[in-house]
Amino acid sequence: MIAFSGSPLDRASARRADAAWLAEQRAHRSARILPLWQLRPFVLGAGHGPQQAGFVIPAVAESMAGPDAPWVLLGLDGEAPLFALDISAAADPQTQGPLAGLGHFEELRGLALRGSLAPAELAICGQAKAMIDWHLRHGFCARCGAPTALVDGGWRRRCAQCGADHFPRTDPVVIMLASAGERCLVGRGRHFPAGMFSALAGFLEPGETIEEGVRREILEEAGIVVGAVRYLASQPWAFPSSLMIGCLAEAKSEHITLGDDELAEARWLERDEVRALLGGSRREGLFLPPPMAIAHHLLRAWAFDE
Ligand SMILES: [Zn+2]
Repeated sequence: MIAFSGSPLDRASARRADAAWLAEQRAHRSARILPLWQLRPFVLGAGHGPQQAGFVIPAVAESMAGPDAPWVLLGLDGEAPLFALDISAAADPQTQGPLAGLGHFEELRGLALRGSLAPAELAICGQAKAMIDWHLRHGFCARCGAPTALVDGGWRRRCAQCGADHFPRTDPVVIMLASAGERCLVGRGRHFPAGMFSALAGFLEPGETIEEGVRREILEEAGIVVGAVRYLASQPWAFPSSLMIGCLAEAKSEHITLGDDELAEARWLERDEVRALLGGSRREGLFLPPPMAIAHHLLRAWAFDE
């Protein structure tokens, strides 16, 4: 399972534009709200054991939120409508107020890295973080500059001034592992932890297919010419709003020339080396991304021909 994928919720996308239906969901006796504080979801349990997404009854979450706090209908879990709500207005909800001592507000990346949440709950927390983050950054109309208002259960923002609609954005990123025979190409980004090498990645641009984006990025970053490109899997990546599109690519050349300023280093790794490194070993300080990253799954798919 790819981290942040596999949410079981019914997003009710055909019904959430109906204000009366939404109000019923919000007042439903099974309604629950996931509070987010400074973009950190509330979780129950300590970090060294299993944890649970901290859904609470609406009145509790609402008592901590500011007047115009962004919220979103995440979806229906069977009968139960689940929401997310920004409570960043609260000074310190871990130690003061109704949630004090009951759990923690934890950064999503750390939660994914530890694997302490069930995969379905991690996916829901990722969705919640991406949506609240989008609202907090899109309070004003990109067209006329007037304030926008949240509608459709948080799935649209509407400008009362000019009538423009703004929808939550997803920014596509291609992430790809190029290989030639028994070797694959990995790079170390300038901001990576020391020693970590990964698949190359970059934002898709308007007017470009996935395959074209893959070829352009590898050529720009490492000077390698790529032929066939095969899609493998994707990953929602709420930092802040990406969709990682994972591909395997066939390298047509082998001489590395670092191009733009993205990579500090790039190199070829042998298949046997990759197999050993995926098991968690380090060689000469070199290591590969953990299972929470889609790059790990690309490397695994190539190395074990999965
Ligand atoms: Zn406007």
